[in-house]
Formats: sequence, structure tokens, C-alpha cells
Amino acid sequence: MKKLALHWQILIGMLLGLIFGFIMLQIDGGKAFTDDWIKPLGSIFVKLLKLIAIPLILASLIKGISDLKDISKFKRIGVRTIVTYVITTVVAISIGLMVVNILQPGEGVSEETISKLTNTYSQNSGVQGKIAEATKQVESGPLQFIEDMVPDNAFKAMSENGLMLQVIFFSIFLAISMLLIGEKRAEPLKNLFDSLNDVVLKMVDLIMLTAPYAVFALLASVVVSSDDPDILVALAQYAGVVLLGLALMIVFYTIIVSSYTKKNPFWFLKEISPAQLLAFSTSSSAATLPVTMERVEEHIGVDKEVSSFVLPVGATINMDGTSLYQAVAAVFIFQALGLDLTFGDQITIVLTALLASIGSAAVPGAGMVMLVIVLESVGLPPELLPIGLALIFAVDRPLDMCRTIVNVTGDAMVSMIVAKSVGKLGEPKIKNWDDHYEEVK
Ligand code: ASP
Repeated sequence: MKKLALHWQILIGMLLGLIFGFIMLQIDGGKAFTDDWIKPLGSIFVKLLKLIAIPLILASLIKGISDLKDISKFKRIGVRTIVTYVITTVVAISIGLMVVNILQPGEGVSEETISKLTNTYSQNSGVQGKIAEATKQVESGPLQFIEDMVPDNAFKAMSENGLMLQVIFFSIFLAISMLLIGEKRAEPLKNLFDSLNDVVLKMVDLIMLTAPYAVFALLASVVVSSDDPDILVALAQYAGVVLLGLALMIVFYTIIVSSYTKKNPFWFLKEISPAQLLAFSTSSSAATLPVTMERVEEHIGVDKEVSSFVLPVGATINMDGTSLYQAVAAVFIFQALGLDLTFGDQITIVLTALLASIGSAAVPGAGMVMLVIVLESVGLPPELLPIGLALIFAVDRPLDMCRTIVNVTGDAMVSMIVAKSVGKLGEPKIKNWDDHYEEVK
């Protein structure tokens, strides 16, 4: 009998996790049972993915760059990557602004809903925590972002969460120096990283064998800690607008994939789907990165020289889904509170949401921290900040899950575009993933 393809297995795991979560919500003690006995399985899976992310970035960037015959190619890849990331993010924000201005989800929110949400969430530790974090970010100087990219201790950069850009910086610096000392002298180090790279990719395969069970646990635990369904229904219009924007962004990706790379966009979506499903289940582009890299390199055919740079950088700075959500959420909050936004304000949203999505960490809920900065930039008075965030807090987790899918898909799409533009988009190594996973087993 033919085995079910991996993406179906993961989808079934997710669905069963949702159903299980809903059942547990109805049972006395069901939430505690899920938290004690199910949630850890999901957390272990996310930890394993994060565990291999740093060695993978290190090994694959060093392998990728030191394989380049000359350094000017790296400059070309670098410039194209950054330019394409900025363009896709501006497109995302524009789509967000378009849908929220046309559909105006904030107009229909009743006074009663606003006061209910304000009472429930404005003093909540989640909302207050986001504001405090954002204040910390704003207080740093304009060049802090660049200063933060440079590590003073490579091992510290690798050992602490959230310092991915520092690891990228160190890997590029090391790899360029390897190129400069010449192939012969750099060979032992290159062999070491080559082999580490292969080993880590094998670790990704092994971790992925547990993915269907892990997503079950992840989704069940999201469901048992979700909010009152009444509140979710009150925010359905706003959530619907964000989802519509995100869907349009996926359509945009497929158009670019088919017109520029001449590949079948459905094939692209199918090949990348395990990474998308994990992005949804974990809400973290950083945790999904190892799987995104594996899919793009082995199943889509992007050369390591390109993907090893484009994807880790993208996971940290390119967040199309997040920036789209920030644009929609900012305008929604103004609409719901009956405040005006001029055309100039909307342009300010484009600029600040662009910078905010670059500055957002690739972890669950980070987009909302930077949303605070977007709201402040268009003049939301500080005393209204907790109320503004309270309006959207209840649906933030499900929307975070969806925007992370777009973040990851955007990175994968850009890696294809950049690869194509430098002649590095080839044939995938693994054409049939089912056979491949059978082999891994
Ligand atoms: N969870 C998102 C990510 O990891 C960031 C965010 O929008 O909160 O890509």
C-alpha cells in the first residue's frame, strides 16, 4: 500500500490536534491534561528544530560562500537579496493597506465590543509586555540595529537565542576569509563544514519523521489555551481582512514564480508545504528555518550558494506576512477608535512597517511588539496604546500562525528569484519525497 505523503500526514496531525484540543476544552481537567502530557511533545519538537538551526546556518553559509569561485558573485547575490526583500515587503504592506481601506473592518466594531475587549485585555500582562518591549526598542539609537549585528563573542552569539544575525555575520566573515587564503589552505576547514552541513540536513530529515505527531501536540495546546469563542467571533471581520491580505500575498508569490522562474507555482507550493505547515504550527520562522532550507535546496533545486545566504537572512529580516498584518492592524485600530488617518499617515505606515518587520524577531508574537512602534509613528496617543492592542490581542495567535506561513513562503520565493537571476536554480535533488522519507526511515 502506498504511504501517505508527508504533507498529508502533517495536515492530518494538525486536524486531529485541533479536534483533540476542542474535546479537551469540554472536559473537566482537559486543559491541565493537555498542558502536562501533550504540550511537552510539541515543545521538544520546536527545541530540536531550534537546536539545529544555528549549526545549519553556520555550516551551510560557510559551505555556500566558500564554494563561490569569486567574491563578486556574493556581492551580487547579497544586493539582489536585500533589494528583492524590500520590494516584496512594500508589496505586502500595500496589499494590507488596500484591503483594510476598502473593507474597513474597524467601522463595524460596536462600543460594547470595544469596552469588553478593553476591560479584558488592556491590563493583561501580554499586552503590557509588548508595550514594554517596544519601548525598550525605541529607546535604542538609530545605529543600534547595525551595532547589534556584530558579535564580540562568536560562541555567545551561537549560544543565545535571537542572535541569528550575529551568527550570519560571523559565518560570512569566516567564509570570506577562507576564500581569501586560497582553496588549498582552506580545504580542511571546508571539508569539516561540508560534512557538518550534510549531517545537519540528515538531522532535519530525522526530526521531520516526528512532525505529524508534533503538530498534533502543538495545535492541541494552542486550542486549549485559546480565548473565549465569543470574543473571537467579534473580531472575525478584522481577522478575515488580514487573512484575505495574506492569501493575496500568496497569489502574488505564485504569479512571480511562474512568470519569472517559469516553474509551475502549484509545484512550488506543494514542495514548500511541509515548511508552511510547520510555520503555522510553530508560529516561528526561526524554528522553521531548517525545514525551509531543506525543502528549498533538496526539493526545489536552489543552489546552496544562494539559499544558505538568502534563507537565514530572510528568516530574520524578511517578514511579508508580519508587515501586512501590521498595516491592517494599525488602520483597523484607528478605524475602531474613530480616529482619522491621512494619506500621509498611510505612507508613514509603509515606511515604519517596513522597518518594523525587519526588526521583528522570528518568534511567536514578535510582530505585535513592532506594531506598537507603527502605532506610535502615526500618532496614536500613549494612553490609547493598551486599548488599541487590546482590540486585536485575542486573535493574535491564530493570525501569527497564518502570517508566519507567508513569512516563510516569501523567503522561499525570493531564494528562487535570486537563484534564477544568477543562474543557480537547477533541478531538485529529491524528486519524490515519499521515497526519500522511506529511505530516511
Ligand atoms: N511569528 C512571526 C515569525 O516568526 C513573527 C510575527 O509576526 O510575530 O515569522
